[in-house]
Amino acid sequence: MADIPTAAISRLVTYLRILEQLETQDVSRTSSNDLAERAQVSAFQVRKDLAYFGRFGTRGMGYTVPILKRELVRVLGLNRTWSVVIVGMGRLGQAIANYPGASDYRFQYVGLFDVNPQIVGQNIRDLRVQHTEQLGDFVSATPVDMGFLAVPPDRAQDAAQALVDAGVRGILNFAPVVIQPRTTERGGVSEPGDEWRNVTIENVDFLAGMKRLAFYILNPTLKAALTEDTE
Ligand code: NAD
Repeated sequence: MADIPTAAISRLVTYLRILEQLETQDVSRTSSNDLAERAQVSAFQVRKDLAYFGRFGTRGMGYTVPILKRELVRVLGLNRTWSVVIVGMGRLGQAIANYPGASDYRFQYVGLFDVNPQIVGQNIRDLRVQHTEQLGDFVSATPVDMGFLAVPPDRAQDAAQALVDAGVRGILNFAPVVIQPRTTERGGVSEPGDEWRNVTIENVDFLAGMKRLAFYILNPTLKAALTEDTE
């Protein structure tokens, strides 16, 4: 498969959301023009994004909403169950755990972790919060696909390392820090440790969104040029 720009994956998620909306409105057919208008990109961009993954429509006929939706769900890997742990069960961790939307996509919380003795042992959505020291043993016994990191910024690096050491390969990092792989020396060169191979980190930061928003409010004409691939 060709290298796929990160922005294309973000747009696929947007197309999926649009298709879900169309389905709730009993709309059964759409087109790249329609999707483009709703996603605020060009029809060329929609076709290009979808073409990375195959041929989904019929030329001149557009797309069948449930079929394209099913295909995007498959491409994004949302047709399987994802086991998730949350590390850091303070305000944000608890809000995430209590938000019901994740289960729509078969994201399943299997473990909750904290270090605060007042939080460890509490039951949140049928799960007992465990101490982060238990993370390694827990992941050995229960396969975990993703870890959500909702710890204070100065704890995020160590907590990320604990997740990766336990074998978790995907981290959704809410802490406003850049997670750095632990490096090891090899032949005088420092390299990320083997445990970081194939680890993906996605950062979520609503303050970053606010900063981008401030920029785009001041520079509205620059937005369109940046939402599409330029190559
Ligand atoms: P909080 O202080 O309410 O909760 C943090 C929790 O992490 C506490 O319960 C603490 O005991 C726990 N903790 C500390 N070290 C830990 C460790 N090693 N393992 C497990 N748990 C540990 O903070 P909050 O308001 O929930 O924010 C959490 C993080 O999310 C912060 O980094 C904050 O900056 C960030 N945040 C991000 C967004 C966003 O949009 N990305 C929004 C709000 C907050």
